[in-house]
Amino acid sequence: MARTTSPETYPDIREGVRALCAKFPGEYWRALDRERAYPTEFVRALTEAGYLAALIPEEFGGSGLPISAAAAILEEVHASGGNGAACHAQMYMMGTILRPGSPTPKEPHLPALAAGDLRLQAFGVTEPTSGTDTLSLRTTARHEDGHYVVNGQKIWTSRAEHSDLMLLLARTTPREQVKRRTDGLSVFIVDMRLALGTSMSITPIRTIMNHATTQIFFDDLHVPAENLIGEEGKGFRYILSGMNAERILIAAECIGDAKWFIEKASSYAKERVLFNRPIGQNQGVQFPIARAYAQMRAAELMVHEAARKYEAGEDAGAEANMAKLLAADASWAAADMCVQTHGGFGFAEEYDIERKFRETRLYQVAPISTNMILSYLAEHVLGLPRSY
Ligand SMILES: Cc1cc2nc3c(=O)[nH]c(=O)nc-3n(C[C@H](O)[C@H](O)[C@H](O)COP(=O)(O)OP(=O)(O)OC[C@H]3O[C@@H](n4cnc5c(N)ncnc54)[C@H](O)[C@@H]3O)c2cc1C
Repeated sequence: MARTTSPETYPDIREGVRALCAKFPGEYWRALDRERAYPTEFVRALTEAGYLAALIPEEFGGSGLPISAAAAILEEVHASGGNGAACHAQMYMMGTILRPGSPTPKEPHLPALAAGDLRLQAFGVTEPTSGTDTLSLRTTARHEDGHYVVNGQKIWTSRAEHSDLMLLLARTTPREQVKRRTDGLSVFIVDMRLALGTSMSITPIRTIMNHATTQIFFDDLHVPAENLIGEEGKGFRYILSGMNAERILIAAECIGDAKWFIEKASSYAKERVLFNRPIGQNQGVQFPIARAYAQMRAAELMVHEAARKYEAGEDAGAEANMAKLLAADASWAAADMCVQTHGGFGFAEEYDIERKFRETRLYQVAPISTNMILSYLAEHVLGLPRSY
């Protein structure tokens, strides 16, 4: 059936991504899901086709495309039934490395990333004790001559076992010694290949969906001083800029998920005949599909607006947060509707619905939970009193 009728941005890129994804059908993702295995072939295919280098500037061998193009790529992966979580970090971390408004960095890894010779898929921010309260993180990076010494722990560092490099946020100045509470954190590129098994250990965490997530311990890990991104102590600001990119891109994935659920539900509701008529002839079945469609389209507009502001170099914080909130709600509502439309078959593994349902649930919690977005909007946009 025809795809849901949103006006298409980047039709050529979308067509290319769809053709690539057609080689990785539901059976492929289902088999990996059973084993909790990483989609190595899929990620290789996306890399070789150049899609993961979409945001890397042309001078470093990437395509130098704006974030809306990356959003179109990830949306299509999800609308095709796949899962971009296996590799989306390489795109969204460019938001931290190539901060809007700052000069192009002399980041030595970019050409190898663009060529697919190196993988930058691990984003080490969350810690077990501080959780959402990022400014309370405890991993430290101590400056000694020519390098930093890192000690601490991260949790939920996804794809660490399938990445060569990690973008790490650590404290370089004790909290009680900084003037502003957002100062004193720094961002580093960590070459995990050199440290694994000695000063760094990775333990996988099994979750309800196939996500290759892990916890990581650092024990006197040495990071060369030149691997510091930007200025020491300003890392939280750089991460925030990266987080806007992350929210926009994950929102685009949620839009893709919602489109997939809506398309599945619409097709099934036309084909499944009960009481001598298609179930989709009943308004009790039609209306939830129509509502999910309206919700998805509204969220999609916010994703486009957030990307537009981000690309214009404007502060896209509110829109990126709203895009993530609305798109995650739209995909979760569409997932629930799709299970209901399929009745018992919605629970059967071979339909892929239960898999996508589990996958899209994550985005109510990560990369930022719904409550924290509402809190951001209440305080920073509406001027309500700070709650924490
Ligand atoms: C599968 C998976 C993959 C992930 N991948 C990564 C990754 O690659 N890199 C990374 O750094 N992190 C990653 N994360 C971490 C993710 O970003 C966090 O789980 C998320 O930010 C929530 O933090 P938390 O789990 O510590 O929950 P907590 O911070 O402990 O919060 C628990 C609950 O309390 C609520 N809450 C807390 N404080 C308040 C408040 N003041 N007001 C209202 N509600 C509040 C939260 O909204 C949440 O619902 C991943 C998580 C998962 C589950």
